[in-house]
Amino acid sequence: MTPSSPGRTPSSAGTGGDGTAGTDGRGTAGARGPGPPPRPKFAAAARAALTDTRQRRNLRGATAVARGRAAAATAEPADWEALREAGRAIRDETLLGLDTHLEGLERAVTAAGGTVHWAPDAAEARRIVTALVRATGAAEVLKAGSLAVREIGAGDALARAGITLRETALADLVVQLGEDEPSHLLSPAAHRDRAEIRELFLRKMPGAPPDLPDDPEALAAAARAHLRGRFLSARVAITGANFLVAETGTVVVLESEGNGRMCLTLPDTLITVAGIEKVVPTWADLEVFLQLLPRSSSGDRMTPYVSSWTGVTPGDGPAEFHLVLLDNGRTQALADEIGRAALRCVRCSACLNVCPVYERTGGRAYGPVYPGPIGAILTPQMRGVESAADASLPYASTLCGACADVCPVKIDIPGVLVHLRGKVVESRRRRPVPTPELLMMRGLAWTMGDPRRYETALRRGTRWVRLMSRGGRIRRLPGLLGTWTEARDLPLPPSESFRGWWRRRNA
Ligand code: SF4
Repeated sequence: MTPSSPGRTPSSAGTGGDGTAGTDGRGTAGARGPGPPPRPKFAAAARAALTDTRQRRNLRGATAVARGRAAAATAEPADWEALREAGRAIRDETLLGLDTHLEGLERAVTAAGGTVHWAPDAAEARRIVTALVRATGAAEVLKAGSLAVREIGAGDALARAGITLRETALADLVVQLGEDEPSHLLSPAAHRDRAEIRELFLRKMPGAPPDLPDDPEALAAAARAHLRGRFLSARVAITGANFLVAETGTVVVLESEGNGRMCLTLPDTLITVAGIEKVVPTWADLEVFLQLLPRSSSGDRMTPYVSSWTGVTPGDGPAEFHLVLLDNGRTQALADEIGRAALRCVRCSACLNVCPVYERTGGRAYGPVYPGPIGAILTPQMRGVESAADASLPYASTLCGACADVCPVKIDIPGVLVHLRGKVVESRRRRPVPTPELLMMRGLAWTMGDPRRYETALRRGTRWVRLMSRGGRIRRLPGLLGTWTEARDLPLPPSESFRGWWRRRNA
């Protein structure tokens, strides 16, 4: 788990292995279940997304609005830069003492009547959650938007156990009804427009009025009516957490619809699944993030619903509370001095909204859980860079730096991307059979390592390339070099090199 707690037992819940696949830390489903279906590389997935003009239009609109709101909200406080710096410092300091803070959190949650479970990977977390829900006898579980719950693949695991997981946030409900994948951290259905949502509700949502218009208010009211009965009859809810306050063992959730508050208060059993990096030492630290997060994410001065709960209180709210602390590759990221900055992330989605790559490809090209620039640095660290799909993520960027400029906790995303590209190259070097790219680079290194070899290659190469030209341009290079000319022409090189010209001039 954490660097100083290697001997922890994973769970006090768990004997009901579910054997399902999820998003485990090292790119497999772990030893307990079959691996997830292979994902395509980012470029291949993005190519498919780029042909969807409706999605591109929807994303362009959604990100432009979010960008504008966040820019206005973050320009208001005179001490915004100082707040960002405080957020960065708190996060970094907390990560360095993570083991101590987590142990303090466990003690406080236990003292308040809750139970803490430690999940080293997604398979273990699925097992814990499935066993806890089975023990209640419930056939249905409510979920309030949580990336960690999605990360562990809880929905599929529960379905295999005959238990239905119901989304309660509007955007998550849209994604679930559409049997879709989320495309944004904050607005998982950002790729859908309201006409599509109306059509989906009419087809898939029981009780949707046949004359349902496609205005947002009516759509939200229809979803509310659909969910109301479920809230009232729910016996178990699963949530994520935005923050875990170590000093009191308090879990904090920020949301704007009130569905999270319903999930926290109405069911008998509450299960919270949270990444171990969500811990903040004190309430004074939390105060900084309560200012940073809403302004950077939705462009609000404060989040409409800030719910916090500490263990159990007899006669008030759930009678049973379980906190599942998830590692799933986070300690691997923590061990990397540069890469660990990704664990500062508060999931505000500001980096997605300014990213020119994300705006065009949408979030699903980045994989099933973490989209956009933060996904490009978090997923390869949690899963490793051995698979082609994970190794492609650090390259899903132009390195323009817009993400680092807006990040409320000052993560140098381009710097981490470059660092991870180095890791991808290193991992390829370790393969027993070198890749064609590596062979080509070795050949180039050999050629450029000697001035005579370099000049000969340049002379012959120039002659050969000029033969391939049409109308003064090279439209297609062969082999691996062809990637260069896939989207651009190459200008014709001059017939004489600079060195040749210099020699002739001084002869
Ligand atoms: S990396 Fe920064 S900007 Fe992106 S989601 Fe995380 S906190 Fe927000």
